[in-house]
Amino acid sequence: MKKSVIFSLLVLFSTQALASINIVATTSSMGMLSRTIGGDLVKVTELAPPDRDVHTLQVRPSMMQALRQAQLVVSIGAELEQGWLPPAIESSSNPKILPNSMGYFEAAAQAPLIDAQANANRSQGDVHPLGNPHVQLDPVKMADIGLALAERLSKLDAANAAKYRQNAQQFKAAVEAKLPQWQKLSAGSTGVILYHKDANYLLTRFNVPLLAYVEPLAGIPPTASHILSLVQQFKGKKGVILHTVYQGNAGIAQLAQQLGWNHVSLPLEPVSNGNQQAYFAVIDQWLNAVANNK
Ligand SMILES: [Zn+2]
Repeated sequence: MKKSVIFSLLVLFSTQALASINIVATTSSMGMLSRTIGGDLVKVTELAPPDRDVHTLQVRPSMMQALRQAQLVVSIGAELEQGWLPPAIESSSNPKILPNSMGYFEAAAQAPLIDAQANANRSQGDVHPLGNPHVQLDPVKMADIGLALAERLSKLDAANAAKYRQNAQQFKAAVEAKLPQWQKLSAGSTGVILYHKDANYLLTRFNVPLLAYVEPLAGIPPTASHILSLVQQFKGKKGVILHTVYQGNAGIAQLAQQLGWNHVSLPLEPVSNGNQQAYFAVIDQWLNAVANNK
């Protein structure tokens, strides 16, 4: 056998020995986690650009194409993507990724949720009746979700289980190494008014007081009377209003002006196809906004 043929066979063999699991992640934080845990054993497609409201995403043909080819869907879950993901999975005709199957993973299902027992329901307007789904800004929770994702990948690709577990442990160690710096930034914060309940896990993790929401109820835009009641409640006190890019409405500006507070727009998600550093940069941004308000 000629050397070139042997070489070709070796290349072929080594390519086949590497699993390549097709993952579709609903957001870039889920994409980051999938890439971090899966390493070069996975291919990740992210559905929502980082500045998009994941509560209401428009499903495009390219997203359907990705879902048809997926072996694993990694979502934030707890009904955050309820409005568009289940119908998209249904019409993808891909049984591997149906909810409750091995190819469907929800980050929020891996850990207890804030407000899980709040008895809220959609008829009252609350968009999160199962509890708060926005887990991605708590790096410690994300590390635990990474361990669970490693176990799921190990079930789909047992031959590489040790690698997935090692990657998850490395991510956990990287988070733990950053914690003292993050805790230092957040210490002594006077508190935050959030637009929506999308950074609660971050604030809870770093002991930052959550003062109120600009939304009167999750998913309901602010009314003039709600803004007025917030002004009356917090006038003369110190704090900062934190929101994200798609929440820039008049209520925020009005509240900030009347309280004399800053309002800061921050990303809820890392840049598209970002790595661990891109995710840590988002946490840095939020905690810097908190720190600048002491
Ligand atoms: Zn929400």
